[in-house]
Amino acid sequence: MDRAQQQRIDRLAAQADLPDGELLQLLKARDDESAAYIAGFARRAAQRYYGTNVYLRGLIEFTNYCKNDCYYCGIRRSNSRADRYRLTGEQILECCEAGYALGFRTFVLQGGEDPFYTDARLCAIVRQIKSAWPDCAITLSVGERSAASYRALYDAGADRYLLRHETADEPHYQSLHPASMSWRHRMDCLNTLRAIGFQTGCGFMVGSPGQTDRHLVKDLRFIKTFAPHMVGIGPFIPHHDTPLADRPAGTLELTLFLLSVIRLLLPAVLLPATTALGTIAPDGREQGILAGANVVMPNLSPVSVRKKYELYDNKICTGEEAAECRLCLQRRIESIGYHVAAQRGDSKVAYPAHT
Ligand code: SAH
Repeated sequence: MDRAQQQRIDRLAAQADLPDGELLQLLKARDDESAAYIAGFARRAAQRYYGTNVYLRGLIEFTNYCKNDCYYCGIRRSNSRADRYRLTGEQILECCEAGYALGFRTFVLQGGEDPFYTDARLCAIVRQIKSAWPDCAITLSVGERSAASYRALYDAGADRYLLRHETADEPHYQSLHPASMSWRHRMDCLNTLRAIGFQTGCGFMVGSPGQTDRHLVKDLRFIKTFAPHMVGIGPFIPHHDTPLADRPAGTLELTLFLLSVIRLLLPAVLLPATTALGTIAPDGREQGILAGANVVMPNLSPVSVRKKYELYDNKICTGEEAAECRLCLQRRIESIGYHVAAQRGDSKVAYPAHT
């Protein structure tokens, strides 16, 4: 690490920002030493807000039907080899029940964009979860819907919404998605979600095909400006039945570096060490926490469907029961001196109360 790189990191840590040109230099000049240096600042920033707590989110992958055709995703509509499934409301509630007993206080309902889950159906599920476990937060991650739909889901009791922007560069977005999908629409959805009052999460894949350092600077600038409550990033990992099957995966090293940069840009953000990170390296999630992440999302889906929710190849944790996943992650987190927090784990960023 040269002196200029150290100064950039010092300035980023002190000011929670850097001009775009400096962010670009920071990415270009990264090496092992500067990665370790920035990770130290990122850990301390996370600890200032959250101590050594790592928050748990129970992930329930409730449908792999999808009307979209994203070029990178294994459950895209055109993948005729995907074995499609939907969980019933009852099965989803059983996942929550098992999760509650294991200490989960946030349930993340994630799925493809499945028209079967109309507002009426999804709102009913949200209401049932909220009435059974009023002390829990519900996060939805079901893609792009209308403003009226988002409003209805919020009114039904959903607290948070994850919608990765995927890339802040419009032409790059179009290169990863069919013409029927629009970057502007996705961005509008994010603004709508936040205006409604959701704790909102954006994010992107690291190393997605065609991504350059300049694209990453745009992503970082968007994240800093949008100031979401949560940011989800993980490496792109190819899926064998997609048009991007033969493209290289994103790297552990760049993902960790970006986690640290994001932590310093938004010190109080909720930042997961994602399953994709745990997939490209056996200790990827632990390294993610040591780079500034403070959330993990163990899988609560029934084991019978885990392999079918295959966004990318070799996804981990598809064989274990929820209790095993929970214990395994707890062991991993404690092994690096952190501990699992059995709390809702709301953002420490000021946000309007759920009304
Ligand atoms: N359909 C919902 C949520 C499910 S996909 C939505 O559109 O938001 C959740 C995230 O998985 C996506 O936002 C994408 O960033 C990530 N993802 C999809 N395919 C992936 C791949 N091949 N490698 C890594 N991440 C992937």
